[in-house]
Parts: sequence; C-alpha cells; structure tokens
Amino acid sequence: MEIILDQEKHVVNIFKIQRFSLHDGPGIRTTVFFQGCPLRCGWCSNPEGQLKKTRIFYYESLCIHCGKCISVCPNKAIGPAFETIQARCVGCGECASVCYTGARQVSGTPMTVQDVVEICLADSMFYFHSGGGVTLSGGEPVMFSEFSCELLKELKAHNISTAFETCGYVDETDFIHLAKESDLVLFDLKTIDESASISMLGQDLKKPIQNLTSLFELKKRVRIRFAVIPGFNDTEEQVNEYATYLAPYSDKFEQVEILPFHRLGGGKYQALGMSYEYQDVVEYSDRELSEITGIFRDRGIKAVVMS
Ligand code: SF4
Ligand code: SF4
Repeated sequence: MEIILDQEKHVVNIFKIQRFSLHDGPGIRTTVFFQGCPLRCGWCSNPEGQLKKTRIFYYESLCIHCGKCISVCPNKAIGPAFETIQARCVGCGECASVCYTGARQVSGTPMTVQDVVEICLADSMFYFHSGGGVTLSGGEPVMFSEFSCELLKELKAHNISTAFETCGYVDETDFIHLAKESDLVLFDLKTIDESASISMLGQDLKKPIQNLTSLFELKKRVRIRFAVIPGFNDTEEQVNEYATYLAPYSDKFEQVEILPFHRLGGGKYQALGMSYEYQDVVEYSDRELSEITGIFRDRGIKAVVMS
C-alpha cells in the first residue's frame, strides 16, 4: 500500500536526522532533513531529498542476488537486474525489510512533530553548552510550512534555539510564516543570474529575491549560503555580480558561507536509478576558493568557506 503523507495531519517524510552537526548554524546542532524540494539541482548531494515520496536505494555491490526482494514486492517494481522500476515503486519498504545485506535501503520515514522533537531533545545539553540548537533542512522545509512551524514552536517551548535552511524558491506567505518562528535563517541564494536560474533550475529569480528582501525587513539573524557550482554560478563575473548585489545589505546578514561543489553524493544517484552529470567535474582547489572568498571580502562582506 502506498504511504500517503498528509501535511494537515502533521506527518512528513524525513530522510535523515543528523546529530552533532557542526555546519548548519552555530554550535552543536541536530539537522532535520525533509524529503521534498521545489528544485532538481543536478549537483545536489542529497538527491533522495528531492521528491516527497519514499525512495528506495539499491546498492548493487551489496547484492547477493537472493531474490527475496522480488518475491515480496507487491507491485512488481523490481526488475530482472534487481533495479527499482521507479514508475511502479510505491515506497512501501517491503523489499528493504527482507534484504539483510543492506543492498536495498529506504529513504524517507513518515514522522510526526513529536517524533522529531523527541529525537532532538536527546541532545539538549549539547545545544545549551555550545550555543547550538536544531536546524531544519532538506529538501526544503518551507514546503512543509505548517509542520515546520509547529516543530519550531515545540522546540522553542523547550528553550531550544532554532534555524532553517531554504533555497528561497518557495511561497512567500509560507516563507514569512516560518521565518517569524525561527531564530536564524540559512538562505541558500543560489545565483542572482536570471538566465542561469531559468536554464539550470527552471525558475526565474522572483521568489528567492522577494523572499530574501522580506527576510531582511524582518530583521532576523540571517546567514547567506553560496553553493558554488562549476558551470552554473562560478565565473568571476557571476561571483562579482553576486557579491555586488549583497554588499548594500551586509549589515543585514552575518556572513556568506561558501559551500564548494563536491561529488560526495554521486553514488546515491546510481543507487536511486538517476543520472549524475557531475561525475567527472573537478572540485575546486584551495586557491580558487580563496579567490572566490576574496571577491566578497573586497566588498566588506564576511565570507567563510565551509568544508
Ligand atoms: S533482497 Fe537484497 S541481497 Fe537479495 S536480491 Fe534483493 S537487493 Fe539483492
Ligand atoms: S518499496 Fe520495494 S517492495 Fe515496495 S513497491 Fe518499491 S520496490 Fe516494491
């Protein structure tokens, strides 16, 4: 039976809860990854977080071809080479439950607000002593604004500091609603190059620019995140344009966090039956990252490379 996720009932798919995270806001944090995103970035290191529905990873190297998964699949969604036939798979997880080698794994666990809060509370002591807290990430937590708002309120009720990360390509009302509940917003401003946004992300810049402008007006703690990606937003001209755009607002955000392209998520694409076009793309050298950082610093913007 297909798992139906009903936001009104406050159940969403969470694909990972990362404890002791040091890269998603200040201090020691727990990062909650929502499954579902409005974008389909080809370089994404968490491709399992793009679709809302439960996904099945198939790691061929772990498979001993016992055939148990095929025998239990109610939808004939596993092919002769044990690959998942995506159009038929409903994410029931039956196959993974009988695969004792771990070749088949489920991505996406339906969770309630209370389920998530319970896990987050386990590390309260670390948040308080480090100035940390909980960060909602994804995927895109604003797509689940009702759930996310309720979650942030619950965490605040336990005196836990909160943050969320967003790409900004989301509904403005939902975005403001969530931003008002959060102590910090990590805003992934992907580009300010309209043609790059349209050609690579399929959307213009209206939503992210409007949401960022609204966020600045709210006077919230903000950090800008700049995922620098070869062939998308990394020419000298593009980075200059990006930094020049942000410079007049430099008193409205704490820093620009530069997230260099990497290929660490590449193996997941194959396991999900997706194509990955960045397999042979070269990662940045320290010198190149230093030059990018310098472009921001030259404009009086604090910029740090997140490794
Ligand atoms: S149950 Fe696991 S190990 Fe057995 S055939 Fe299926 S994927 Fe391979
Ligand atoms: S999750 Fe596994 S068992 Fe369920 S439909 Fe998909 S392939 Fe079949």
